Amino acid sequence: MKQIVYRFKDALYINLTNRCPNSCVFCIKTKFAMRFDKYDLNLCGQEPTSEEVISVLQKEMAQEPVKEIVFCGYGEPTMRLKTLLETAEKIKQLYPQVKLRLNTIGLGSLVNGRDISGELAKNIDEISISLNSPDAQEWQKIVRPKAEYAAQGYQAMLAFVRACAPKMNTIVSIVDKQNIDVEKTKKLAQELGAKLRIREFIDEM
Ligand code: SF4
Repeated sequence: MKQIVYRFKDALYINLTNRCPNSCVFCIKTKFAMRFDKYDLNLCGQEPTSEEVISVLQKEMAQEPVKEIVFCGYGEPTMRLKTLLETAEKIKQLYPQVKLRLNTIGLGSLVNGRDISGELAKNIDEISISLNSPDAQEWQKIVRPKAEYAAQGYQAMLAFVRACAPKMNTIVSIVDKQNIDVEKTKKLAQELGAKLRIREFIDEM
């Protein structure tokens, strides 16, 4: 069965797609053969509709309610912007008290050809953007973007952070143990109006 919603710690996670504009050096989806914890997150190309996601979420919430729901699977949620926005709106209608977070690589505006921060902010409370590096060349080496996003990707990601920061709680992240200049990244995060989080490097499960 395709795993479109999974439970991890105190939250429910939505796996909207396996597509991604990047191929990060630390990506665990290839390392763990699309598995995470006890779940198989391989959608085998069958991306869920908003109705499917809501139906599974309702069952999970009835079993054990959570305070946070996160768009974050083995893929980039903004690759499916329409479904993401529809699903976020329905979740907020059903569970207004739940915190809704989007984990993203920050290329959503570039991929969709317009500034999407305002559309996201209508229902997303918190956005966590993988900054990965305070340096454009280093970023390219780490995230290995597809050719069509390579030239503009880094600047587009920074512009996206700037656009999100006044609209919702905005966090930028780097991954631990990647030799990233933390002080420089802190300064950049501040300039962008975002908070910095250092994510754990996951090596094994
Ligand atoms: S952005 Fe996430 S899903 Fe995409 S390659 Fe990087 S780590 Fe993997």
